[in-house]
Amino acid sequence: MSENLTQQLLDWYRANGRDLPWRIKGGAHPDAYAVWISEIMLQQTTVATVMDYFDRWMQKFPTIEALANADLQDVLMAWQGMGYYTRARKIHECAQVLMQKYGGHIPKTRDELLKLPGIGPYSASSICCFAYNIPETVVDGNVMRVIARLYGITKEITASDIYPLAQKLTSPEHGADYASAIMDLGATVCTPTKPKCMLCPWKKDCLSQKHGNQEQIPQIKKIAKKQMDGQVYLIRNKKGEYLIRKRTEKGLLNGLWEFPWCEGKKLPGKHPSVTHIFTHIKLTLQIIHKQENPDKFDGIWVDPQHFKDYPFSTLMQKIIKKNILKNEASEYAAKPYMFDKVSKKLFCGVGEFDYDPKNNPS
Ligand code: SF4
Repeated sequence: MSENLTQQLLDWYRANGRDLPWRIKGGAHPDAYAVWISEIMLQQTTVATVMDYFDRWMQKFPTIEALANADLQDVLMAWQGMGYYTRARKIHECAQVLMQKYGGHIPKTRDELLKLPGIGPYSASSICCFAYNIPETVVDGNVMRVIARLYGITKEITASDIYPLAQKLTSPEHGADYASAIMDLGATVCTPTKPKCMLCPWKKDCLSQKHGNQEQIPQIKKIAKKQMDGQVYLIRNKKGEYLIRKRTEKGLLNGLWEFPWCEGKKLPGKHPSVTHIFTHIKLTLQIIHKQENPDKFDGIWVDPQHFKDYPFSTLMQKIIKKNILKNEASEYAAKPYMFDKVSKKLFCGVGEFDYDPKNNPS
């Protein structure tokens, strides 16, 4: 292998790297707050999606102080649609800790960063790199793919298998540029399918390019997801309002609004269902329509027009889009301000939706 792999990659990045609002070529980004927010958003979410959310977020909460003083419900609303809401709640909590204990500044060492809510080893390393140009080694999915291909590793791997190799390549002087460079190479050149090896700065050294097995690498060890079943109840009163409740218990989806649901065995008979994949769980809920509230669930009654005022999880948004808004499209069609017959879009509740009459049972 060439001894200049790091320099070759840095040269490639300076000429070809992406311009992203939370990064600066040639060193650290001047706003560590922007780096922190982008890093948390980018976990489980694509760059294209984050671009939109990031701009809106920075306008709404331009500083750590503004975020710390914001209402949690507003923070969750700003996050709505990106899923994994624990991230948003932890960001809010972390902003409050930063104001109380760190004078509104983000610490500059990995050890201090790791004491903060919602900042794990990967985010701590990334913040050190991008906000302070410290040469921490970052290993995400892109980095795993690029390095596994570079070294032709065909066996199943985890991030810790790749870490020592990634560490050897990390530039001691250019932590920020190096981390950006390897991520960009993975995102734009060494892509999961059809990598553009001819454009790659490492093409001469890359073993998988030599063996032609790029698309078989990497083999990532998968964590099995646990299947969970249950029922969600869409309970409607005579005014057409639905019963929703706020989650208060700690953990998954805390602070978000939802239709009453519970875990349980599948019910017999035909029921529509919705499936959602969480980090370690695959949840399938049968959808049960009910009138009034025979099961006496706690909650409040809300007209679908006002759903936009309540942060719902991605799972609940799926249910709203498929089982409430489309079923009610004919009702809303009678109200021209709600249904645009030309665009066939329904303007309601959590946003704007395509209306397909074939899917409308009424
Ligand atoms: S040569 Fe091809 S497979 Fe190897 S690192 Fe570059 S893009 Fe990836």
